[in-house]
Amino acid sequence: EDEFELHKELFDELGIKKENSGVCNGEWGGSGPVIYSMNPSTGKILASITTASKADVDSAIDAARKAQHLWRSVPTPVRGHIVREIGEALREKKLALAKLISLEVGKILAEAEGEVQEFIDMTDIALGLSRSMPGQVLPSERSKHLILEQWHPLGCVGVITAFNFPHAVYGWNSSLAFVCGNSVVWKPALSTSLVALATTKIVHSVLERNNYPTSLAALLCGAGEVGEAVSKDRRVDLVSFTGSTAIGRKVGVWAQERFGRVLLELGGNNACIVMDDANIELAVRGILFSAVGTSGQRCTTTRRLFVQQGVYDIFMEHLTHAYKQVRIGNPLDKGTIYGPLHNHSAVSRFQKTMEEIKRAGGAILHGGKVVDGPGLFVQPTIVRMDPTAEIVQRETFAPILYAAKFKDLSEAIQLNNAVPQGLSSSIFTSDVRALFEFIGPNGSDCGIVNVNVPTSGAEVGAAFGGEKETGGGREAGSDAWKQYCRRSTTTINFGDDLPLAQGIAFHH
Ligand code: NAD
Repeated sequence: EDEFELHKELFDELGIKKENSGVCNGEWGGSGPVIYSMNPSTGKILASITTASKADVDSAIDAARKAQHLWRSVPTPVRGHIVREIGEALREKKLALAKLISLEVGKILAEAEGEVQEFIDMTDIALGLSRSMPGQVLPSERSKHLILEQWHPLGCVGVITAFNFPHAVYGWNSSLAFVCGNSVVWKPALSTSLVALATTKIVHSVLERNNYPTSLAALLCGAGEVGEAVSKDRRVDLVSFTGSTAIGRKVGVWAQERFGRVLLELGGNNACIVMDDANIELAVRGILFSAVGTSGQRCTTTRRLFVQQGVYDIFMEHLTHAYKQVRIGNPLDKGTIYGPLHNHSAVSRFQKTMEEIKRAGGAILHGGKVVDGPGLFVQPTIVRMDPTAEIVQRETFAPILYAAKFKDLSEAIQLNNAVPQGLSSSIFTSDVRALFEFIGPNGSDCGIVNVNVPTSGAEVGAAFGGEKETGGGREAGSDAWKQYCRRSTTTINFGDDLPLAQGIAFHH
């Protein structure tokens, strides 16, 4: 039984049919296997998608490169206007897109709307950048010389995305890639192909009415082998990969082996530290959102919680009380704050991890079970656990929070930094010394270091990403745009002499 008819109005608005082409190289098509997209809240099929074959990967990259040759000579502020129009088109379809994200991913509508808003915000950043993209003029040591540094378009950018942010991550990458003069070839997660289709159609509507080729925003729906083909292709100048550390490790090697550029946004294992002097109510609210939001399937989800010994008992009492109020249900219903897991393997990973936790001596403080019913629901879970246990070092992409007690700040920082991942971290305190210690050079080793703000919920204005096994990449705001450019350094001589750098004498 399929759910297509049930959501037909929404699908019509977004140009989704019962059977869809999942490949666009300027024209829609696809000659790979047909797959089905599922609603994780019901376990039922939404629609089918034809995925990409090897030949489709080849033709999409070829078409994207050709389109980029035209696009790179369009003035940057004109490119900025195209990206601005993409933002306008997204504003018009914001609710419809959010509903589709909710349906296909399983995240609640409010978070899905936030995801579309992130893409819109990125188009604003890109628009501003299009009028202000800086270069440098540097002084030369030689008389009547000047040095310039410019940022030029890089070429073709491959964007491989994870299921949990099926729209925003493409937005971060494509807004900057386009404004910097590149074409984009997108390989979305297989299970979020409908979101990718709807998003691409909106981008294409803007390109078409401005007479630019839609192959600038090529789409290759497909499984891992399509991502592998994109990563290994010499014609893809930058591979921007968002996903698990295990796959990212391979993608990174494939891209670097051919001297392609790579931007990696991989797994996290994020901790919140609650000090004795913290505002407990604020910390509970923040950590609840960060641990339970998106059903524990954000890269920045709080997975580890360290509470100072003086407030441990009272804090855990408040937190478990808050967990009891979490309304589980259909993510499209108002009032639901917690939806299903995304797929069957996530549910079985949750179950396996719970068994492992019990064997390792963890004490379940809340949840721990799979919820009966057709959808893929599991209980949001808190476990008291030895923070050095092997299982705590891994990212289990499910709503499991490991809690532990600590004595002093230096122990908490040591615990925070003791895992292989380095994405996000947070401290709740009202002590300025603890605050600055945590955000300083001897503090958290993560890319995101928050104070009285939990680990998830970043804004697009700043750079986003993490260290160590999180991959080291930075996306979104700040100077992340530079990664979508190639830098050229130019020395100009406006004199009649030829002095050499470093005072080298070279007379003949
Ligand atoms: P995943 O690694 O399973 O898949 C990510 C993407 O890689 C998908 O498009 C997938 O089809 C593709 N892929 C699979 N095999 C491939 C291969 N051999 N070669 C190339 N591509 C291949 O991840 P997921 O389950 O979709 O997402 C969850 C993971 O993503 C978590 O680890 C999470 O922390 C991470 N994530 C990180 C960030 C970040 O910004 N750091 C953001 C979102 C998600």
